[in-house]
Amino acid sequence: MLNYEKLFELAKESGFNSWGKLDVSTLEFLPEVRDMCAVNTCGMYNKSWACPPACGELDEMKAKVQGFTEGVIVQTVGQLEDSLDWEGIQEAAQNQAESFQKMWKVLKEEYPNLMAMGTGACTKCAKCTYPDEPCRFPDELISSMEACGLVVSNVCTANGVPYNHGKDTICYTGCFLLA
Ligand code: SF4
Repeated sequence: MLNYEKLFELAKESGFNSWGKLDVSTLEFLPEVRDMCAVNTCGMYNKSWACPPACGELDEMKAKVQGFTEGVIVQTVGQLEDSLDWEGIQEAAQNQAESFQKMWKVLKEEYPNLMAMGTGACTKCAKCTYPDEPCRFPDELISSMEACGLVVSNVCTANGVPYNHGKDTICYTGCFLLA
C-alpha cells in the first residue's frame, strides 16, 4: 500500500491544489478517445511523439499499466474571471505543467519505473522533432491521459476525485502509476 499521506504532501509541495488515490483497475483505454484525437480539435494529432498516433496503440498502453495497482491523481484547479478568461486558462495549464514536472522528478527517485500521464501535448521543446528525427528527450516525454485513451472525467469519478470544481473554474488532471 502506498504512503498516501506522504504522496499528498508531495503533491501539495509541488504546487497542486487537488489530489486523490488512483486505483489502476479503474483505467479504461477507449478507442473512442483516440477517435476524438483524430478529429484534431487541439491541432496536435500527428504532430508530436507524445500524441497519437506516435505515442503508441491502446494495446501498448494496456500492456504498460500491467503490474501497477496503485497511483495518485493530481490536479490544478484555476479560478477564472469568467468562462472566456483565456489568461486564467493558460496560467492554470502552465501551473499544472510545472507542478507535474516537479513531482515527477521527485517520484522518479523512489519509483524509477513509474508511469506518468499528464495534461496536453508535450511542450518540452519549442518545436517537436516529430516525425523527421527521434524524440530529443525520450526519458522526459509524457503523454497526456487523453492521448493514452482515457476519459479524464471517468477516471476522476471512478476514484472519487472531483472533476468539476465549480462555476468559473478550470481543472487540469494528470496521474502517476507507482506500484
Ligand atoms: S521531448 Fe521534444 S521531441 Fe520529444 S515529444 Fe516532447 S517536444 Fe517532441
